[in-house]
Amino acid sequence: MAFDWLDTALDHKKQDGYLRTRAVVEYEKDGIICINGAHYLNFASNDYLGLRHEEGVLQTWVEGLAQFGGGSGASPLVTGYTQAHQALEAYLAEHLNREAVLLFNSGFAANQAVCQALFGQHNSGDGLIVADKYMHASFIDGALSCNATLKRFRHNDMQHARQVLAKHHEADCLIASEGVFSMDGDSAPLDELIALSQAHNSWLMLDDAHGFGVLGARAMGSAEHYQLSQQQVPLVMGTFGKAVGTAGAFVAGSQALIDYLVNEARHYIYSTAMPPAQALATLYALQHIPGSGRQQQLQDNITTFRQRSEQAGLVLSASASAIQPVMIGDPDQTLALADALKARGIWVGAIRYPTVPKTTDRLRITLSSSHTRRDIEALVDALALAREAVT
Ligand SMILES: *Cc1c(COP(=O)(O)O)cnc(C)c1O
Repeated sequence: MAFDWLDTALDHKKQDGYLRTRAVVEYEKDGIICINGAHYLNFASNDYLGLRHEEGVLQTWVEGLAQFGGGSGASPLVTGYTQAHQALEAYLAEHLNREAVLLFNSGFAANQAVCQALFGQHNSGDGLIVADKYMHASFIDGALSCNATLKRFRHNDMQHARQVLAKHHEADCLIASEGVFSMDGDSAPLDELIALSQAHNSWLMLDDAHGFGVLGARAMGSAEHYQLSQQQVPLVMGTFGKAVGTAGAFVAGSQALIDYLVNEARHYIYSTAMPPAQALATLYALQHIPGSGRQQQLQDNITTFRQRSEQAGLVLSASASAIQPVMIGDPDQTLALADALKARGIWVGAIRYPTVPKTTDRLRITLSSSHTRRDIEALVDALALAREAVT
């Protein structure tokens, strides 16, 4: 029988503690989620600034629906590219100090598109991608499915990156890292990466899915916060589904890069453009962030969480971002701990292999500006109790 191995594969996953299932969210507001009829404080969302429910964002979305209809109706190259998309691209290009910007329906698509377009038919075929080991799956899959050789260096290990690069002399080299790493919450050594990429005549690409919206006075992410020019970081990717509270993504860089993607990126050409209303709402959200105090509130919440955890004797990693992993190292224990937290009304992500390396299974706590001090105190108290109960 065709595909009769599906059940066996699932059984194996279950035995090993790696079976994934989904929870249905029935209701969600103000940091509370309702799942299976029970309410939890939500510490497992990437809505770092609480913008998914911001009234102006929603109002703009509704106005966009009235103006442009529900969907875009076509690929951007046919009739799906509207003034709403153009305005968002222009805003991003201006504030990121980039020549041009291109919108994508998701960060997953953008990462794949970048790899496949840059290392596609016009590339001589001996290109190289040198990526941090902890790069997001969407980038790694893209890098594996294009004409480049993919080499990975140990997470944030510049000496290893240097070794990897020293052995190769390909014409085109793309060095890739993340602004804020999605599972560890730490940052890349950007100065060293820039120096390395310039020494090797390469392009540096930054996937800033978790920095964009959170960092920078204008919420433009790591590139703005660390004042990284287009010359230093020729390719910036960011997403709207996390801190910005909507959905979709962008790539920013030279006009030639963007024009080439318009012509060659199959994820762009053969996909219906994002709804114009979504582009309008995204632009509104980006303009709203700077004066809203949300970025500062998030920073305060991170500080509160780390101080409280230290007082409670919890061991945290070095993350200074909204992503605060609590390392467990075993998949079953990670699930048991997440369940013990659920029993105390706290919802956190249980992140296991293969999303993270084996033996680094962890709880992934994400903080938001919409959490109150009491929410965070409740989290730390529950963590301390759950650890005692489970370990
Ligand atoms: C979430 C994420 C993506 C994918 O973005 P989507 O818009 O959710 O598809 C890419 N890279 C990183 C680092 C991410 O965290």
